[in-house]
Amino acid sequence: MIRVIGFDADDTLWHNENHFQDMQDVLRSIIERYPVDRERVDDHLLQVEQNNLGRYGYGAKAFALSMIETAVELTGGEIAGRDIARIIAMVQSFLSGPTHVLDGVTDTLDILKGRYELLLITKGDELEQKMKLASSKLEPFFHRAHFVQEKDVKTYGAILQSQQVEPQEFLMVGNSVRSDIRPVLELGGAAVHIPYHVTWQHEHSELSDGERRAAVVLASIRDLPRFLERGRDNDC
Ligand SMILES: [Mg+2]
Repeated sequence: MIRVIGFDADDTLWHNENHFQDMQDVLRSIIERYPVDRERVDDHLLQVEQNNLGRYGYGAKAFALSMIETAVELTGGEIAGRDIARIIAMVQSFLSGPTHVLDGVTDTLDILKGRYELLLITKGDELEQKMKLASSKLEPFFHRAHFVQEKDVKTYGAILQSQQVEPQEFLMVGNSVRSDIRPVLELGGAAVHIPYHVTWQHEHSELSDGERRAAVVLASIRDLPRFLERGRDNDC
């Protein structure tokens, strides 16, 4: 019987990746004014981001540094200071902007909060995630928020142990197969995949046939209470 539900934050509770893709579009438009093949920008940026993950972790500040590194490298150091300033300004504007909660999230958390223990489990820059959570006004729905470096089997195992929750009592809800679904299934928990319309290439992963049988895919978070009700009825 499910007793505790974990929610991913970015692109599960609020819009995120679309903002990063918009920033990447601006980076492309800046770089294409130099004698650089604009087709190289996306691949180069992804490579730089992946190389920097161990140093910077996730989040917009890490993204800013990787965009600047990409711009410097692809232009052979010719990128103008004013263009670097544009990159910094757009990241600052994102960080100080509002959090856009996804449709149905507040209603759904409101339905579930008295029936289950709700946890927020998000990776990324802790300060940035805390600011987004405060701006989202969703904090009161959660018993606890976990800000973690990486969402793998070890991390989920440690969270469940710290909360004294057995894997079979736990359900994780998220948009990333790699971070929200696969490690939780491996641990023996349940998982609901709610795809977001865009996925960062680093997170992109398809459900395997076995995972497809084990995980549930919902089109909207609004479908979650009904799915949980059905599960309860089947348990009885
Ligand atoms: Mg996510």
